[in-house]
Amino acid sequence: MAITKKKTTTRKKTIHKKVTPKKSAKAKAVKKTVTKKKAAPIKKASVKKVAKRAFKAVAVKKTASNARPLSVAQNMYTPQVIEKKWQAKWDKDKLYRSVIDHGQPKYYALTMLPYPSGDLHIGHWFSMTPSDARARYMRMKGFNVLFPMGFDAFGLPAENAAVKDGVHPMKRTFQNIERMRKQLRSMGAMFDWEREAVSADPEYYKWTEWFFIQLYKMGLAYRKMAAVDWCPHCNTTLAREQVWGEDRHCERCGTPVIKKDLEQWFFKTTKYADELLRFDEIDWPQTVKTLQTNWIGRSEGASVIFRTEAGDAIEVFTTRPDTLWGATFMVFAPEHPLVEKITSPDQKPAVEAYKMEAARQSDIEREAVDKEKTGVFTGGYAINPVNQTRIPIWVADYVLMSYGTGAIMAVPAHDERDFAFARKYGLKVIPVIQPEGQPDLDGDTMPVAYVGAGVMVNSAQFNGTRVNDQKGRKNPGISRVIDWLAEQGTGKEAVNYRYRDWLISRQRYWGAPIPMIYCEQHGWNPVPDDQLPVLLPEDVEWKPTGESPLKLHPTWKNTTCPVCGEPAVRETDTMDTFMCSSWYHLRYLSPHYDKGPFDDAEYNYWMPVDTYTGGIEHATMHLLYTRFFHKAMRDAGITEGNEPMLQLRNQGMVLGEDNEKMSKSRGNVIAPDVLVNRYGADTVRTYLMFFARWEMGAPWDSQGIEGSARWIRRVWTLFTEKYEKRPVKSPETLKVLRRKVHQTLKRVTRDFENFEFNTIISSLMELLNEMYKAREAGAAGSAEWEEAHDIYLRMLAPVAPHIAEELWTNYLHKPYSVHQQPWPKADEEAAREEMLEIPVQVNGKVRDRVLVSAEADEDEIRSTALASEIVQKYMEGKAPRKVIVAQKRLVSIVI
Ligand SMILES: [Zn+2]
Ligand SMILES: [Zn+2]
Repeated sequence: MAITKKKTTTRKKTIHKKVTPKKSAKAKAVKKTVTKKKAAPIKKASVKKVAKRAFKAVAVKKTASNARPLSVAQNMYTPQVIEKKWQAKWDKDKLYRSVIDHGQPKYYALTMLPYPSGDLHIGHWFSMTPSDARARYMRMKGFNVLFPMGFDAFGLPAENAAVKDGVHPMKRTFQNIERMRKQLRSMGAMFDWEREAVSADPEYYKWTEWFFIQLYKMGLAYRKMAAVDWCPHCNTTLAREQVWGEDRHCERCGTPVIKKDLEQWFFKTTKYADELLRFDEIDWPQTVKTLQTNWIGRSEGASVIFRTEAGDAIEVFTTRPDTLWGATFMVFAPEHPLVEKITSPDQKPAVEAYKMEAARQSDIEREAVDKEKTGVFTGGYAINPVNQTRIPIWVADYVLMSYGTGAIMAVPAHDERDFAFARKYGLKVIPVIQPEGQPDLDGDTMPVAYVGAGVMVNSAQFNGTRVNDQKGRKNPGISRVIDWLAEQGTGKEAVNYRYRDWLISRQRYWGAPIPMIYCEQHGWNPVPDDQLPVLLPEDVEWKPTGESPLKLHPTWKNTTCPVCGEPAVRETDTMDTFMCSSWYHLRYLSPHYDKGPFDDAEYNYWMPVDTYTGGIEHATMHLLYTRFFHKAMRDAGITEGNEPMLQLRNQGMVLGEDNEKMSKSRGNVIAPDVLVNRYGADTVRTYLMFFARWEMGAPWDSQGIEGSARWIRRVWTLFTEKYEKRPVKSPETLKVLRRKVHQTLKRVTRDFENFEFNTIISSLMELLNEMYKAREAGAAGSAEWEEAHDIYLRMLAPVAPHIAEELWTNYLHKPYSVHQQPWPKADEEAAREEMLEIPVQVNGKVRDRVLVSAEADEDEIRSTALASEIVQKYMEGKAPRKVIVAQKRLVSIVI
């Protein structure tokens, strides 16, 4: 924190230069230089140097292992050289530039963008490089593929670091982005860098602000005082989605959250609750659909009006209106507005004490499932509207004001939690659902609540009505009671959601400003379009006060009212960064477009996203927000269709070698850069595809990568080694080779369609072995051999793009680039397994002939023979004493 004044000034100046709109041209110039630098070809000298080093290394190794003394220079695999070389060439040739082409079907392959933490970790590689391989495969299949990349650049970590060390988040973020761009380039992915979007760039966040205003104009952005979740460590409010776990901790830093009453901006996500529950137009993993469904938590039932003895209405929601006659008490949240009014004088001290206690407790304890439920009687009573029974009202902290109405009716006979509470405090238990064919339930003695199906009892005119296990209207008991409540005017059918509106305000600096202005006269009004973007000031102080630096800035908030022109103030809260990422896929379409958030022509061609890949941890956050955003913008006439992303696939997680989540503190982090330097990107890419099923993930295994490295080297050797041609041993050799090639192609094609990357790699490894065998058998030089090489490299190209290009262009001397070649088509005829007819003897006499694949092993032949009906007939139900499989010529069974 000890920064001299002089230094601070210099820092501010530098930053100022970079982002003030006046000087944005300069900022752009800086950017350009950077891009140029990257695109520049690698200096020849350095290539030579690396090659020399690699040459030495290989030469030493070769001698040591006493390998065949072939020309080492020719046979040397130097990923450090060829990878950089091809990356530069692809860049120069704009090989991955994706532009609208109406003559070609489009394919928008999107992968989640990183937060610019400063270092790309192995998890990024695990999510991005298989996604890249898939995108490349789609391109070879004839699609015009868009595969963009960018940075989700606003957010707390950069600002928390600024409070700690004084480095401006803007400076840190853009430096980190520089570094990560280089790391991303080392993957050799087909990112179209001309479409890069950075959410903290004013030309991006101008439109984030503009979208906020559209939501505001639609009535979907509103401000209200609310008890919100507050992270005392991050010094900001959090959305409900960002509060995790039973102990309700901050998603970012793990600190338990507290409640705070604040005026906040919200997005009305709940308006779309029902639509968000529909997944019929999208191909998303069931897990994500389930997580979103549970998060929205729709439940059907009835809203019922109880009354206090003084006549005040108490609204409750219940999923079980069929049990209303068994409601023997009510429970209020301690904060319920009626608590004070209903509490009797003699109960007042106890209720007050309980309220104090509840207020001291965080929601952590209040909501914990395993927590013993406590409560206090208020001394007040409610009237049950179905039978006019007078029932006591309690307060208990497990009822929260933020859920439902803050009051519940308790039916202890048929609800486990109510039952436990009733038994603890000696409250009445009245069964109203009787299980059929069982002894009558007795409220005084029943040991547990009964929650199953049965027949309504103790329920006046409803006695005898069947109640099943279904919810809502599908349950005849519930349905009849709802109708009757409506007739009586004491209740109505209702749907309740767990889902809440999206809290969007953050009391932090490093985010898109909320473009709203407050005037004493005219209240809140949006910043006029011609004044967008509202730019973040650079000259701010870093004080861990819990207030946004924007609020403490001496002048930034002062502006004029868009209605009357009189002095007014800006909103000093910024937006949750999940707002920025809700629409980044749209900014990629035209990242520098300035007449709107995106160019319509680009939208019409590329949208919707065809495949979206990324982590499942975003199931109830980003993946829900972006669907809400799209639907809201559809209703505003800005986007089209009902869903932004048609297909979603999630990868699993790469754990540390110790089976734990990777973290700096555990010291189990695997740095991809080190691996790339050592093995090359192709090996790292293929190992990540190979070592686990992609959707599952696995703990890292640093030994395993050697296997992938060996395979890649063997690919190199097979394609580059000079080999003496020998005569073909038999025509079968070529036929078998061709069969293997086309069988592999079929499998690899199928696996690409299904995102099964590990089997793609193992198939390619197997085929390589077959090719070595075929070479030994004299296949080299044949048409089949040439075809095998051609198809092998095409299949290899998406997974290991550099080596495939090098071998294709410089060794097979085929037209550059392998990445512009079509995906090969499998020859079904060639791929078909040959069948053999094998005679089967029983006790020395041939009784049948069975068909088996030419590839079948002994076990398979034996079981096929034993399964033959004719053979079984001759075995007369006896177990064979001996089964001899004489190679692939005869099976002999002795009984
Ligand atoms: Zn936090
Ligand atoms: Zn005004």
